[in-house]
Order: sequence, then C-alpha cells, then structure tokens
Amino acid sequence: MSLVIGVLALQGDVREHAHALEASGATAVGVRRAEELDRCDGLVIPGGESTAMWRLMRAFDLLEPLRKRIEAGLPAYGSCAGMIMLADRIEDGVEGQETIGGIDMTVRRNAFGRQVDSHESTIQFDGRPLEAVFIRAPWVESVGEGVEILGSVERPVHPVEGAPRRIVAVRQGRLMATAFHPELTGDPTVHRYFTELVRQSKNEE
Ligand code: GLN
Repeated sequence: MSLVIGVLALQGDVREHAHALEASGATAVGVRRAEELDRCDGLVIPGGESTAMWRLMRAFDLLEPLRKRIEAGLPAYGSCAGMIMLADRIEDGVEGQETIGGIDMTVRRNAFGRQVDSHESTIQFDGRPLEAVFIRAPWVESVGEGVEILGSVERPVHPVEGAPRRIVAVRQGRLMATAFHPELTGDPTVHRYFTELVRQSKNEE
C-alpha cells in the first residue's frame, strides 16, 4: 500500500524532507493549503524558523485547520522549527508566538546557546546511536506522562561529567518530533520510523 506524506511547504528545508521520505518508500507532496491534506496519510513540518512559520500559518489561515487535522489523528513529524510547532508549550518564543501543539511538552527555542549555533553530535535514537545535525536547535525541557522519549543527547561542546542529557526526540501517539535535522545526513532511520508510524496509523483506520 503506497503512502502519501505531505511536507508543509511554507518555509524551510522542504525538498530535503521530500527526498528522505521518497527514500523511505513514501510518495512526498508539498502542502500549502489545508485541502491538500485530504490526500495525505501523514505530514512533515520541516525545520526553518518557527516565528516565520507561525506568521505564515496565520496569514494563510492554516493554524486552525492544522490543529483540527492533528487532533483528528493525522500523523505528523516536526523537525527543529517543526518540533517547536508541535509543542504544547514553548520557552523563549517571541511575543505572542503560537504553535499548532499536540505534543504535551515544553520546548526551549535556540536552547543550545549562541556559541554552538550548529553542531553535529552522536545521540541515542530509539536505543541506537545516530549522527544528528543541530542548527539553532531547540531542546525539550519537560514532557507530560503520555510522551515517549525517543532520543537524547549529552549537552554538546565541553561536556561536563554528570551533565544532564537533553531530550531531542519524542513521540506521543501519532505525533513525533526531533530537535535535529535527519534530512541533512542521509541516514534514513528517522524518516523510516515516521513512515512506519504513518503506515501503522493507516492500517488502524
Ligand atoms: N531556531 C529556529 C526557531 O526558533 C529553529 C531552527 C531550525 O529549524 N533549524 O524556529
């Protein structure tokens, strides 16, 4: 059964996600209007800039339709700015910044600090090591009970013995999010994980 997965194409690295989805066996389509979600079995919200994405969603009347679809069970995966968009709560947002929400978590924007705008780290994802690229990335400050922690990283750059691990990948039901950009490394693990989640959700219907 072939799966159609939309990539929200308002802003950010849309094409790289589309390639990674195709490499995981799905058909990827760009989504700019809510009606285009009718043919999608799942949705990827790419990295970019969450404040710009939020303003564009407001301007194009997409915020409420996206909230409704996700509440109704549309599987979604948000990467970096996309993770911020799927968070129920954000820290260090700009004045009035809204999210789509759906995952019971608090995410801190630009959490790794200015000195480490971008970096690559080996993280644990779904119990295995994975090379991950972080670009002005958020991390997850806290999660509610229903949220599964899929991935974490040692605080990068000058790691201190005993420093806390930071949560950088989560799943809650049909929603998942990563603080990093798996579409940039060529490792298919995360996109395969999401494609499998979408397949299972479709089978349940
Ligand atoms: N710092 C960005 C934001 O707040 C996210 C960066 C990214 O998606 N690479 O939206």
